[in-house]
Amino acid sequence: MNVGSGTMQIRLSPGLNATEQSVTLYHEVLESASMQAFYRKSLPPFLADLSEAELDMLAQMAHEQFGPASVENLTKFLHAVGF
Ligand SMILES: [Zn+2]
Repeated sequence: MNVGSGTMQIRLSPGLNATEQSVTLYHEVLESASMQAFYRKSLPPFLADLSEAELDMLAQMAHEQFGPASVENLTKFLHAVGF
């Protein structure tokens, strides 16, 4: 991920099913948005201390609530958690 330009690249492990891919995308996008917000000092407080396992749980819930990860659904998710 490039914090300066805001672009990011996510590498998915081969062999993940569609749900796992989607959950991984939610996880990685949340993690990267959090990192950028941290540097801008605008991180929603509840996201400050999440463990990898908690990020996974949140990503799983996001997949269930918003559906398979897409630009549109990821954007809805990020708005819902305060970005
Ligand atoms: Zn992670």
